[in-house]
Amino acid sequence: MSNECIFCRIVAGTVPAAKVYEDPDVVAFMDINPVAKGHTLVVPKAHSDPITETPDAVLAKVIAVVRKVARAHFQALKAEGVSVAQANGRAAGQEVPHLHFHVIPRVEGSGRQWTPGKYDSPAEMNQYATRIRDVLC
Ligand code: 5GP
Ligand code: ZN
Repeated sequence: MSNECIFCRIVAGTVPAAKVYEDPDVVAFMDINPVAKGHTLVVPKAHSDPITETPDAVLAKVIAVVRKVARAHFQALKAEGVSVAQANGRAAGQEVPHLHFHVIPRVEGSGRQWTPGKYDSPAEMNQYATRIRDVLC
C-alpha cells in the first residue's frame, strides 16, 4: 500500500470510488473518465506494477475478475462486445502505475475508439455501477 498511489487509496477506501466488486485480493470500480459508460477498472489490492513484475498468482486472480466483469457488461449493459486493455509504462499510455485492466463495453462500430469521456452526473455513474454489481457473482 502506497499513500501516493491513487489506486492503493481507492483499495484502502481513503479515496472514494464506485466499486462493483471486491474480494480479499481484487477490487473492481468505475473509471471516472470512461471511454464508454460502464468502463470498469480491475486492480489487485496489493500494489503491483508493471505486469512483468506481477506474480502469476496475483495475475490469475485479477484476470478471473476481469472475465466476471466482462460477462457482467454483456449481461447487464447489453454490450455487443467488450474490450480488455492494460498499459505498462508512459510510452504505452499508462497514467496510473498500479496494475489495472480496463474493461470497456462496446457497441458495433465503437471498438477502436479510445477517447476518455464523462458521465452526465455522479448518479449516472452509480447507476451503471449498480447494474454491473447486481449481476456480478
Ligand atoms: P492508464 O492510462 O494508467 O491505463 O489508466 C488509468 C485510468 O484510471 C484512466 O482511464 C483514468 O480515467 C482512471 N483514473 C485516474 N484517476 C482515477 C481516480 O481517481 N478514480 C477512478 N475511478 N479512476 C481514475
Ligand atoms: Zn498502488
